[in-house]
Amino acid sequence: IKQYMTRPQGSIILLHTQVVLSTTSDSTSKLKLNMTEGRSSPALLSDDFYEPFLSKLAKNRQPDRIRVLIPLESRPGLISFLAGKPNPEMFPLTSLSFTARDPQDPSKEIPIDLTPEELKVALQYNYTDGVPALRDWIHELQEHVHKRKKDESWKVSIGAGSQDLIYKAITALVNPGDPVLVETPAYGGTIPMFTTLGCDISEVETDAEGLSSQSLRKILEEWPASKPKPKVLYTVPYGCNPTGITTTTERRLEVLKLAREHNFLILEDDPYYFLYYGAAPRPPSYFELDGSQPEVGRVIRFDSFSKMLSSGFRLGFVSGPTYLIAAMDLHSSTANLQPSSLSQIVALSILKRWGLSGFLKHGDTVAEFYKQKRDKFEAAMKKHLSGLAEWDTPKAGMFFWFKILLPEGPDQHDSEPLITTKAFEKGVLAIPGTVFLPNAGKSPYVRVSFSLLGEEDIDEALKRLKEAILELKAE
Ligand code: PMP
Repeated sequence: IKQYMTRPQGSIILLHTQVVLSTTSDSTSKLKLNMTEGRSSPALLSDDFYEPFLSKLAKNRQPDRIRVLIPLESRPGLISFLAGKPNPEMFPLTSLSFTARDPQDPSKEIPIDLTPEELKVALQYNYTDGVPALRDWIHELQEHVHKRKKDESWKVSIGAGSQDLIYKAITALVNPGDPVLVETPAYGGTIPMFTTLGCDISEVETDAEGLSSQSLRKILEEWPASKPKPKVLYTVPYGCNPTGITTTTERRLEVLKLAREHNFLILEDDPYYFLYYGAAPRPPSYFELDGSQPEVGRVIRFDSFSKMLSSGFRLGFVSGPTYLIAAMDLHSSTANLQPSSLSQIVALSILKRWGLSGFLKHGDTVAEFYKQKRDKFEAAMKKHLSGLAEWDTPKAGMFFWFKILLPEGPDQHDSEPLITTKAFEKGVLAIPGTVFLPNAGKSPYVRVSFSLLGEEDIDEALKRLKEAILELKAE
């Protein structure tokens, strides 16, 4: 720490130190262990490997010189003048009680009262990468669901939704103007992260089986020798936003192989993992598959509590190589200090009451709910848009992506005029496919979300859309 105080350079390495310290009571001995042993497994990629992946911005970031010392405050016997923490005696909130659904029987409610200790944590500043007990719970989840044993090669950080963490990952890895690989169509919330950096986006095609490894291979094999190669691939692997498609296991394995051959990292943006309702077993995540590759550590995985607990909590988490996640933590320590302690403690108190099995059971309930919504939506699609549109049935998530069979003419491959004029005038709001094209352009597709609407509204909306299409055809 003394060395850190006098030499802020090498901040990423020192942030590792913080990570280790934050989870141990005997910080001094663990610190030595981390510094001297490093990560020795030959299958794991080293810090030296990841260093060239960092953007200039990430390399320049300096740790917050106070925040990095916070873990030392838990040393027994230590008297700390360190933190600029407000005194909780002056906070107006004195207790917090609420009810949560029982995952075993969602018609029942479980009362939850935060203990005085939990409330104290909820109302106070905490670690940059999240409240340790919630991070521990998430590690347990990742170990159970994605079969990745907890070790020092990867870590979890919590953010203000997965959106916050995706942005931090992209700015930690990508320099302005860098080439990047992005699936097309892609989540509209991520495209601006690349475009504002002026990235040179190579669009990787997708189809009914998800991300096309063939399209990816073609792009990489034809990559001009004079041009620097892309460092990252961005994809949404389950119930993709916007296409609703889930990428097959075979494709995922191919993509991981290409990542190794062409030296890039995979940004696995996966808020719909627990919203998988396909008939076949759910394919393993990239994060899971990465664990059994000849070299482990090519995947940065983003999860979200938004669809499972509450989107208003603004809680998501990232799991990936410690070196890179530590670089993202440096961003948080400057940008927003940490995710909300209150949200984290409320979420944790629910998760602790439920246990891991309760959370997974809740996941099954959520998936079944969206499956029924999907079925109702598809039935209405068949009733109103048969012969006027084409689609693949989603197996996860909450989106339907369909191609409108537009009449011949200048707008034959562009749904935007129809959606923004005729359909809108009839009182239907949907998103034209063009919004999801990383490099802009025209698209005959439309994205609709079936998460909220009841059967009557769906029926009415698709009837209006049908009328709009028929009017256009009649012109
Ligand atoms: N990625 C995708 C693909 C999404 O659809 C969303 C939410 N619309 C996010 C990320 C952001 O989710 P969060 O609420 O966790 O920030």
